[in-house]
Amino acid sequence: MNIATTAAQIGLERESRTGAVTVPIYQTATFRHPGLGQSTGYDYSRSGNPTRQALEEGLARLEGASRGFAYASGMAAITSLMFLFQQGDHLIVTEDLYGGSYRLFEKLFQQFGLTFSYVDTSDVEQVRQAIRPNTRALFVESLTNPLLKVADVRGLAEVCKANDMLCIVDNTFLTPYLLRCLDLGADITVYSGSKYLAGHNDVVCGLVAVKDAALAEKVYFHQNGAGAVLGPQDSWLTIRGIKTLGLRMDRQQENALALAQWLEQHPKVGRVYYPGLPNHPGHALMQHQCGGFGAMIAFEVTEPALVNQLLMKTQIISFAESLGGVESLITFPQVQTHADIEPEKLQRLGINHLLLRLSVGIEDKDDLIADLAQAFEGEDA
Ligand SMILES: *Cc1c(COP(=O)(O)O)cnc(C)c1O
Repeated sequence: MNIATTAAQIGLERESRTGAVTVPIYQTATFRHPGLGQSTGYDYSRSGNPTRQALEEGLARLEGASRGFAYASGMAAITSLMFLFQQGDHLIVTEDLYGGSYRLFEKLFQQFGLTFSYVDTSDVEQVRQAIRPNTRALFVESLTNPLLKVADVRGLAEVCKANDMLCIVDNTFLTPYLLRCLDLGADITVYSGSKYLAGHNDVVCGLVAVKDAALAEKVYFHQNGAGAVLGPQDSWLTIRGIKTLGLRMDRQQENALALAQWLEQHPKVGRVYYPGLPNHPGHALMQHQCGGFGAMIAFEVTEPALVNQLLMKTQIISFAESLGGVESLITFPQVQTHADIEPEKLQRLGINHLLLRLSVGIEDKDDLIADLAQAFEGEDA
């Protein structure tokens, strides 16, 4: 089945009593036991809830995973994965990492004796060279934020396999609709479901898909043990969002390409980072590996004053953090999303005072272009 079909049918056929076509919201903390030593399969909603389970099983189908897991946020999902490691373990991580993941690793998990090396994971050789005797995993973003560097997931998974390391991919920017990491050899995919999967900027959630059944058992133990599960209401909203994943992604990508091409020829724009443009370093790899190029764009304006002007004057495009929803958003990564990363590192990575990031939504592309055009015009518009 095509991924768009699997996505549209998530949460179907769960309810046998009434035949409801949509999984109900099982807003219950606990479940009555039919008899002593018996269970309906559900005992307590931290351990398992039918609405959350419908989401988790749907995700597993989308990913080709043995199991899926839903958490209270993307950070909760990543936190839960860190329980796979112990004091003394070393992980190799994408250097232009999501700021919250960087903060989690450096400020929270380092104190428990985990160490992290940050490398350019769009270069398989850099990953290979960072391996130490105690390296247990690679944590890689398939498409990075905000500069959109592309990871060769198959190549990286091979390096991990050969070195007895887990290959964990944060696939938030692409989703299984555009990249099925487990098929390419990754062990685990992790998502901020708050972004493209839920897709409407109305829910915070995290998702994990695990290929191997024994490893999935451990992840389940940690999910239940640490307890940062997704509630039934938010599970339902996420299911509702995933149904239109294919439609949204198609439209968002089409819009993103049009905007990137328009930005590229604008006199007040410097570099444009969009992997759908042939001059992007990851273009060929994505063409080969992915079902599309995603809908995130980063671009530099030609002078610092334009940053504030664009953030303040865009009308349709909102100045807000986050990404992946149906509404277009613009943000200033250096200050808004990457404030926890040292200034020298930001500069080296190219996340500078001229760089803006666009999350392109499903609006009409001509309206989005007109909005940016009037914002560039400034006071005279
Ligand atoms: C947003 C995001 C996260 C964190 O997810 P939350 O749902 O906000 O906790 C992790 N990784 C990436 C790539 C993200 O964009």
